[in-house]
Amino acid sequence: FPSLPRLRFIPPPSFVRLNWVRAMTSHIVGYPRMGPKRELKFALESFWDRKSNADELQKVAKDLRISIWKQMNVAGIKFIPSNTFSYYDQVLDTTAMLGAVPPRYGWTGGEIGFDVYFSMARGNATLPAMEMTKWFDTNYHYIVPELSPDLKFCYASHKAVNEYKEAKELGIETVPVLVGPVSYLLLSKPAKGVEKSFSLLSLLGKIIPVYKEVLTELKAAGATWVQFDEPTLVYDLDSHQLKAFSDAYEQLEETLSGMNALVETYFSDLPADAYKTAVSLKGISAVGLDLVRGEKTLELIKSMGFPSDKYLFAGVVDGRNIWANDLEASLKTLRTLEGLVSKDKLAVSTSCSLLHTAVDLVNETKLDMEIKSWLAFSAQKILEVNALAQALSGEKDETFFFTNASAHASRKSSPRVNDEAVQKAASALRGTDRRRTTPVTDRLAAQQKKLNLSVLPTTTIGSFPQTADLRRVRREYKANKISEEEYVKAIKEEINKVVKLQEELDIDVLVHGEPERNDMVEYFGEQLKGFAFTVNGWVQSYGSRCVKPPIIYGDVSRPKPMTVFWSTAAQSMTSRPMKGMLTGPVTILNWSFVRNDQPRFETCYQIALAIKDEVEDLEGAGIQVIQIDEAALREGLPLRKSEQALYLDWAVHSFRITNSGVKDTTQIHTHMCYSHFNDIIHSIIDMDADVITIENSRSDEKLLSVFREGVKYGAGIGPGVYDIHSPRIPTSEEIADRINKMLAVLEKNVLWVNPDCGLKTRKYDEVKPALTNMVAAAKLLRSQL
Ligand code: GLN
Ligand code: ZN
Repeated sequence: FPSLPRLRFIPPPSFVRLNWVRAMTSHIVGYPRMGPKRELKFALESFWDRKSNADELQKVAKDLRISIWKQMNVAGIKFIPSNTFSYYDQVLDTTAMLGAVPPRYGWTGGEIGFDVYFSMARGNATLPAMEMTKWFDTNYHYIVPELSPDLKFCYASHKAVNEYKEAKELGIETVPVLVGPVSYLLLSKPAKGVEKSFSLLSLLGKIIPVYKEVLTELKAAGATWVQFDEPTLVYDLDSHQLKAFSDAYEQLEETLSGMNALVETYFSDLPADAYKTAVSLKGISAVGLDLVRGEKTLELIKSMGFPSDKYLFAGVVDGRNIWANDLEASLKTLRTLEGLVSKDKLAVSTSCSLLHTAVDLVNETKLDMEIKSWLAFSAQKILEVNALAQALSGEKDETFFFTNASAHASRKSSPRVNDEAVQKAASALRGTDRRRTTPVTDRLAAQQKKLNLSVLPTTTIGSFPQTADLRRVRREYKANKISEEEYVKAIKEEINKVVKLQEELDIDVLVHGEPERNDMVEYFGEQLKGFAFTVNGWVQSYGSRCVKPPIIYGDVSRPKPMTVFWSTAAQSMTSRPMKGMLTGPVTILNWSFVRNDQPRFETCYQIALAIKDEVEDLEGAGIQVIQIDEAALREGLPLRKSEQALYLDWAVHSFRITNSGVKDTTQIHTHMCYSHFNDIIHSIIDMDADVITIENSRSDEKLLSVFREGVKYGAGIGPGVYDIHSPRIPTSEEIADRINKMLAVLEKNVLWVNPDCGLKTRKYDEVKPALTNMVAAAKLLRSQL
């Protein structure tokens, strides 16, 4: 067929355009609070150390807030968030707003100040902190509210209103952001001692009055918009939980009149029933949806429709990653959405708060221009949101779009990204099932013949205390201040010290102590192809703590062995088995910024193949026991149940790939940093490691209950016998007691004795007595078996 003539769109002259064009708006869900160079971190830590006073801390905080608002204002963002700043955590801020302070912190009323606030966050001289847990599937941790039926709620922190007013004084109109009432309750836990039948949602009626007070005050201060973050809507909630959303906003409806309210969701698409609930909430004029992680969001809007009287805040700019947005692709999505919502009711937004990405690319002095052109941190994402909104209003900044398109083209075709051999090898793994052929029981028997270990063998997880000296040596070597020779000598001396100590302690399977590593992911990333590192790409993890994830930008391969030199050196210092120590592919993946131009499993398989090379080189060099840490396997678990099986399948497969080629006599260990894996126990078994060591001592009962319930675990297992997070030294009786509890549910010939995790954060005068007691406990029990 002859091709039809294409209809050309000819833009009318701009004076005409003004009359018919849609006014597109832009919105940011939230912004990092740490500052481009972690200014808040240093101010907080100096305040906590009593090196500065509250005024000084408040000044730094205020300056940060102001510069962020100004930045968004100058960029042209219409809906600028306020109250996304926090001295510690936004959920804790909400706890303060509601006056929901657990009684033990001795708060007696009045506006909550730093004293009570930081005691809840970090503990004080006499009290431990409140519990902290992961915020959805991010690496951010929030302080878990502890609620009980008799808790009296009252309006006890005016932070949201104060910050709104602070921005207003600068002439900047903002959208105050509150953690929504239902998500707040769903993210809470019942206080200790509260009866089992107590339902957290039953407190809704008690917290709504406080929300009303806040809203009334915001309105009085001039606020015309408010944002409620209700991310729990993305979970698989039951109808009772969904009804709580309808009830909550119905109760707020009257207070919200005269004001626009946005209910913001993120981190996934919504299940159909939650979507229905979200778009029909009373009192709400806008719904925010994630179109990045929410892969099905667009389909959902198309198939279920969107109410004509509401705004859609379309989260097309990724708040979880560091890649420049594909502006043309986003524009296409937005154009589709334009056809689905009412005129003037579409706003361009970020997929979630930018809290989960790095702050400003401007401070990356060490990244080369090519890689830099592929990236966008928070400051750049603001510009992207604005450019998209402008383009929709018919004022497309052609240069901005052109630069963006060129960057995408360069990223797509760059030889630094593409390595055909790696791609082929990784895609050959799809649909396969790589695993060792001999069953684990037989392998263990073959290994035991060589290793000849006593029952209840003792070991540690890898790292030994990291001293200031050690950190200095690594730093000086990196900065070329000491020679390679000097560096190797210093590290070998350290390894030797750790080996001798373990021999003195009479530990059975030794480790080299990891003195050459500053971080278990960075160490490998720096030696693998396809990784880049930032100097200031920090992301808040909790409180003042930040992490700097590596960026995986290209196909991953291993140019040369990474750990063989140190492991063989360590093995040569002892006749006992020395564990080779590696970080597993899933953990490397989950603790990095991952490329978004191929599925995550593809990248994971590539890393798995690189680690496989390392495993085989270690084996070839005579290392008989190799530990492949998968500390973060659980972290990658998708939020929605329907997606979990697929993830577990490729994640567990990736682990198996790394050691699918070793001999039966090579013993593969893995290690995990959490104890709640009852729900994924079958996947853990399917990893088919010979030995697994797991954190356990903070929750004996939880972990061991799986085995009590009859799950068969034939491989070796070492549930941690003491908590390494605490400086407390456990007695040998207490450790023996723990081991006895384990022996009640696990067979004696599979049980290992080890601490919860690596020892790098502890001091030698804690580690020595603790390990002495651990070995003594193992010996005592051996004599009784
Ligand atoms: N091998 C690492 C260490 O001992 C494991 C750390 C971890 O599990 N987070 O430090
Ligand atoms: Zn650990």
